[in-house]
Amino acid sequence: MPQVSPHADFRVLPSVDEVLKDPAVATLEFPRALVVAAVREVLADLRQVVGEKRSVQDRLARLGAEVGERVRRITTLSLRPVINATGVVLHTNLGRAPLSASAIEAICQTAGAYSNLEYDLDAGARGKRDVHAAALLERLLGAPAVVVNNNAAAIFLALHELAARGEVVVSRGELIEIGEGFRIPDVLARSGARLREVGTTNRTRIEDYRAAINDQTRVLLRVHRSNFKIVGFTERPTLAELVELGHQTGLPVVEDLGSGCLVDLTRYGLDSEPQVGESIAAGVDVVTFSGDKLLGGPQAGILAGKREWIARIRRNPMFRALRVDKLTYAVLGATLRDYLLESYDHIPILAMLSQTEAQIRDRAAKLLASLHGIRGELASGRSVIGGGSTPAMELPTTLLALHPPPGVSAATCERRLRTGFTPVVARVEDERVLVDLRTVLPDQESSLAEMLKQVWT
Ligand SMILES: *Cc1c(COP(=O)(O)O)cnc(C)c1O
Repeated sequence: MPQVSPHADFRVLPSVDEVLKDPAVATLEFPRALVVAAVREVLADLRQVVGEKRSVQDRLARLGAEVGERVRRITTLSLRPVINATGVVLHTNLGRAPLSASAIEAICQTAGAYSNLEYDLDAGARGKRDVHAAALLERLLGAPAVVVNNNAAAIFLALHELAARGEVVVSRGELIEIGEGFRIPDVLARSGARLREVGTTNRTRIEDYRAAINDQTRVLLRVHRSNFKIVGFTERPTLAELVELGHQTGLPVVEDLGSGCLVDLTRYGLDSEPQVGESIAAGVDVVTFSGDKLLGGPQAGILAGKREWIARIRRNPMFRALRVDKLTYAVLGATLRDYLLESYDHIPILAMLSQTEAQIRDRAAKLLASLHGIRGELASGRSVIGGGSTPAMELPTTLLALHPPPGVSAATCERRLRTGFTPVVARVEDERVLVDLRTVLPDQESSLAEMLKQVWT
């Protein structure tokens, strides 16, 4: 905080009551308490600069306006839609998966009314919220499933139920950290289980797992490496080997799949990502995955697998603390129904993956043509899938590379785009602003064009 000048003369500052009478303040159509609080804050700010004659004079002149701005700022919702021009499809900082039209419709219908969330309409009696996803999930995955708040919660709950006070065997090559401080060893410790590391960072064999098993062992854990890749001299047992070891020893195999992919991504020209159904079919006892990564639904964590384990996990008292609300069930149900109907293109994330470089080139060329007077060109680039999918998961794309107007830096354009009326998040490279239309939703294209024109003029 700046030092208050010893010569500060606070008498130059008006009183709260005087500011309240300022026409710019008196005409504000906000509750008095909000306005008074804003006046106090503005005056407190001014007290810090009272020694510096000039800035005080300037700010005194626009005191009323400043109070208005402050009240408006606090009553403007801070969570806003953003245009993602980065080409990172599952951008965790930008809210991961945008929802499908049917998911949005479901959320609107459920949000403003009572619902049968936990009421069995046929029986006229209390029901379970689980039913709203259970049948869809079981049909899609081939196994019973339950839903919690996110995948971190799902792993926690699985280990809390199946491994508390016992040991969990994990390969040293899978002790990963994902963004925002999610570390497998830490979650494992908080679940009450003890970590039993086996193998080395790059190589773990099935014998390593076998040798680590003792009378304290409760779970064999497998984790999708998500945001990093081990290449070169590597070895990892197959899922089948791990499941076989589980059978021989009577231990459940739990797999954290991360992204929760339900379709074959090679159809989009991507490397194959493990699918949930494959793990279930391979005999994994419990798989966990996110709802808002490749699945393209709401933030949620899904646990699926053998009926007895899922039933035990469902009975764990922590389930109550980690369960999801009606809006999540509404969105998840609608998203899963799209999968069941094979309407993959209705799911925005999958529609983005399915766009070819040529289709994006078309969109980019049209956009550029509409930006009269903005200098730019089309360039080949790569879109990143992100969201904890395999790091090598990239798709060829066409970038719109825009040169800043004369006398302005690309960084300034990038900042103006980001802080404008409709925030646009883009990248800067070689003094150009790069726009990847793969992640710009079709109905955002005209707002994007408006924003570009505004910033460039
Ligand atoms: C993303 C991810 C998580 C965390 O999932 P959230 O749904 O964000 O809690 C856990 N494990 C893996 C392997 C992941 O990729």
